[in-house]
Amino acid sequence: MIFEQSELDNWVQKYPLLDNIIQLEPVVWLNPNLQKMNEISSLPVTKADMENAAELWQRFAPYLAKVFPETKKTNGIIESPLRKIEKMKNELNTKYDSKINGELFLKCDNELPIAGSIKARGGVYEVLYYAEKLALEAGMVNKDDDYSVFASEEFKKFFSQYSIGVGSTGNLGLSIGIIGAKLGFHVSVYMSSDAKQWKKDLLLAKGATVHEFKGDFGEAIFAGRQQTKDNSNGYFVDDEDSKHLFLGYSVAAIRLEKQLQEQNVLVDKDHPLFVYLPCGVGGSPGGIAFGLKQIFGDNVHCFFVEPTHSPAVLVGLLTGEKEKVCVQNFGIDNLTEGDGLAVGRPSCFASSISEKLVSGIYTMEDDELFKLLALLADSEGIHLEPSATSGLIGPGQILASEYVKEKNLNTSQATHIVWATGGALVPKEDMKRFYEKGQSLL
Ligand SMILES: *Cc1c(COP(=O)(O)O)cnc(C)c1O
Repeated sequence: MIFEQSELDNWVQKYPLLDNIIQLEPVVWLNPNLQKMNEISSLPVTKADMENAAELWQRFAPYLAKVFPETKKTNGIIESPLRKIEKMKNELNTKYDSKINGELFLKCDNELPIAGSIKARGGVYEVLYYAEKLALEAGMVNKDDDYSVFASEEFKKFFSQYSIGVGSTGNLGLSIGIIGAKLGFHVSVYMSSDAKQWKKDLLLAKGATVHEFKGDFGEAIFAGRQQTKDNSNGYFVDDEDSKHLFLGYSVAAIRLEKQLQEQNVLVDKDHPLFVYLPCGVGGSPGGIAFGLKQIFGDNVHCFFVEPTHSPAVLVGLLTGEKEKVCVQNFGIDNLTEGDGLAVGRPSCFASSISEKLVSGIYTMEDDELFKLLALLADSEGIHLEPSATSGLIGPGQILASEYVKEKNLNTSQATHIVWATGGALVPKEDMKRFYEKGQSLL
């Protein structure tokens, strides 16, 4: 799996930062291939695709409101609040010397209904997309019907002829398992053996089947893909190469634009927007960055964050090899407590887009995740899962880098959004353990 020494030496010579990455040091990488929006000739998805995805969400809103009562108050729209975190900003400025002078917000996807994580965007979307496709082909609905019919026994019986497979470290499996089983599909979730027991238990309780694999997430995906495709009525949600997951995530940008307007936040040349996104295969941060770029153009600056032990998208973009390399090729072990970020190989689909749109990527150590978790809980009373805290040091990291100078940005009027990607479904005892660990490290 690991490259020959001579090959490693060649890569390091070409990209010296790779040496630090291999040594597992936290790094900040600024993307030399970032393009201005008017320089990009074409991408595999368009703004129209994103708008179509938003319409699909709208068509399913009556169904979601009916079967997931927690979405009733938003009329079946799965969305999370945008909260100003002034107290945490002060903590970051004092404890981390972050020097944040603009506004700091937390995008609370940890509160997303159904899956309690950002996967409620991509995962739920792809299953709805597939369900609609089957129902349209069977002549069971028209796009202007009331989709609450999807909750009927007739539809459930129809979908029970089909199966959906997904490989997952946890959260994606939860979102696909919950929505898939609700619609009536047979759902098989292929998990790496290090996936948390409570996630497996919850999936079983929702009616999904769990298959465990030794080895890592990449192997679980590989096996899941094979076994699902052996079944003629099987559909595989492929985290390593999915356009639909990507589009499901992208719709967050349309919603965020509205939330920023509601909070009277201006985004233009003199008021830049910085967004910090935890990154696993790169689908969720890539989809959201794509959407934000469609709306705010060059005035939004998107940064991804990965654990020092799982810098999959970083090595993919830095070398330009994208999904053709994995962290293990460079002798990096892909062991991290950041669930959802423990990914060795980047998404093929998302990387081809992110390589032009992401401003940079930074990495961080696991211990920092727990410290930030405890700091946020104490200062704001918000409880995230460890991986979801990783964006919090983003403003400090980027403000201290060359980026702001290179781009000649006025950061005194900047807005920083840290994307909190998960946490709501974490059992209380686990959350307590995370918090105590963070406390002990502070
Ligand atoms: C999945 C996940 C991510 C990263 O999303 P990718 O599409 O894998 O890049 C980040 N945080 C949490 C909590 C996740 O579950």
